[in-house]
Amino acid sequence: MLLLAVFQTDHYKSQRELMVENQIAQRGITNELVLKAMRIVPRHLLVPEKIRSYAYEDRPLPIGEGQTISQPYIVAYMTELIEPSPEMKVLEIGTGSGYQAAVLAEIVKEVYTIEIMEGLGKRAERDLKSMGYKNIYVRIGDGYKGWPEKAPFDAIIVTAAPEEIPQPLMDQLAEGGIMVIPVGQEGKVQKMVLARKVKGKIKTSYLSNVMFVPFLRDTI
Ligand code: SAH
Repeated sequence: MLLLAVFQTDHYKSQRELMVENQIAQRGITNELVLKAMRIVPRHLLVPEKIRSYAYEDRPLPIGEGQTISQPYIVAYMTELIEPSPEMKVLEIGTGSGYQAAVLAEIVKEVYTIEIMEGLGKRAERDLKSMGYKNIYVRIGDGYKGWPEKAPFDAIIVTAAPEEIPQPLMDQLAEGGIMVIPVGQEGKVQKMVLARKVKGKIKTSYLSNVMFVPFLRDTI
């Protein structure tokens, strides 16, 4: 059994190396911190056991409750966009599997992540803890409101698509901070938006077309 476990660990490690090379580096992600984090985080431990063998493929995967773990490239892309560095405090909306939070936690000082679906949030919290992460804080709730007690954040990553950028998230972004957020209507192609706070004002630029799950509200 132990031998099998060792073999599997090595097997996943080499799959992960290939993922970073073929899906991430070759598509233009150059930030060394991001590439290193993607080489470290055991993505297979954050997907349901039945589909573990697909963990390093170039696509999102179902994680239950109709939600998905984002495609590895998208995680790398969003992480690179926030220009991550070791002293940063980052907020993520949409914990899902916990994978994006883990990639961030390899680079930055503290990660605060909010998940609206209790089952997913609790599972991610447990998984991240068992993987040894001590700088990730998970909260169950509607990420629309952000995490005001811990604001301001040096960067914010939103992994579900609202129709507009939530005002509380803009308010909770630090001066000079960057927010990366997919914006658009449910079921339609959305735009990745990069929002930067400059002298208290939000400046947005529109990047690539993307497809994310809708941003839910707990008031409905
Ligand atoms: N970052 C995740 C991707 C998860 S998909 C990962 O790395 O696996 C997006 C997640 O956002 C889903 O789990 C969904 O339940 C959650 N979500 C949607 N609307 C939300 C909201 N208003 N607040 C917090 N989480 C939300």
